[in-house]
Amino acid sequence: MTDTVICPECHQTATVVGRFTLTTPSGPPVEYLRIRCSGLLTVLVTADEAPDYALASAG
Ligand SMILES: [Zn+2]
Repeated sequence: MTDTVICPECHQTATVVGRFTLTTPSGPPVEYLRIRCSGLLTVLVTADEAPDYALASAG
């Protein structure tokens, strides 16, 4: 598990500063990441929205 992901807003690398999972009444739990990318403060995104940088760059 890496701490570098792709920011869904600007498509640059971003650093994960926090991560947590929310359970939902109906359906699987959703993982959220708080990320910091260049030029912004922090952004809250779902893990699906911010792909792992190592995985994304590999394929
Ligand atoms: Zn960004």
